[in-house]
Amino acid sequence: MTTTIAVANQKGGVAKTTTVVSLGAALVELGQRVLLVDVDPQGSLTFSLGIDPEDLDVSVAEVLLGTKLADDAIVITDDGMHLLPANITLTQAEESLLGRTGREQRLRVALDKVADDYDWIVIDCPPTLGVLTVGALSAAQQVLIPLQAETLSHRGVGQLLDTIHDVRQFINPGLDILGVLPTMYDGRTRHAQNVLAAIEETYGLPVVRPPIPKTIKFAEAPAIGRSVLSTARNHKGAQAYREVAAGLLASGKDTAGTRA
Ligand code: ADP
Ligand code: MG
Repeated sequence: MTTTIAVANQKGGVAKTTTVVSLGAALVELGQRVLLVDVDPQGSLTFSLGIDPEDLDVSVAEVLLGTKLADDAIVITDDGMHLLPANITLTQAEESLLGRTGREQRLRVALDKVADDYDWIVIDCPPTLGVLTVGALSAAQQVLIPLQAETLSHRGVGQLLDTIHDVRQFINPGLDILGVLPTMYDGRTRHAQNVLAAIEETYGLPVVRPPIPKTIKFAEAPAIGRSVLSTARNHKGAQAYREVAAGLLASGKDTAGTRA
């Protein structure tokens, strides 16, 4: 069975892309078959995995427009994850989707055709709550919300939860919230701990653990085109993502167990 996770937060710079790359690499280390999906026109995920977004023959834009299959666009990355890449052409595709039938279902339909090849599909959302993010939420079973554990960074979470609620009500009733993943966490400050407690209390959302520590290593990896799990193997940031991935795998097995 394939588990599809959308990594979403309309705030930019909260480590959505970093989380997708690092979790993807960690799941591959655990022997899992992983497809990462870039639905951000900025193509940061694509770039971070060593692929030049400007050099793509086929990208997720054509897949959403229905002129190509996901299989035609998927590439294999150096870290072993497969990638459905994106670039700036997704901006025009998004505009033209607005007047097209099934715009919010198109990603799900496209991914359904390749899902058998993967244990995990992880989708990197853009920093908006538009049709691309709604499409990702519609294709996913679970949503993971990275959140910078700093002052007021949880402003806007309410809006994201409203969108998730709408998607559940009208498109994808099975969508679960995996939880909030604290990123750029400095556990030495009482403040960071307070923010975590406030999030649990205010929104009643589970907090995924461990929190991802704040470290410069994450800024260095994308330019090399590899995940931090390859560039800084034993680093505490890489290790934290490995633990989150192991938790995902364990909870997946629990769920499969209760269903069987
Ligand atoms: P988003 O996709 O939400 O816009 P990114 O993953 O691109 O966020 O991360 C934004 C910036 O923060 C990038 O420069 C990235 O390298 C950096 N970053 C991500 N995670 C961490 C972390 N745990 N500690 C320090 N910097 C981080
Ligand atoms: Mg991003």
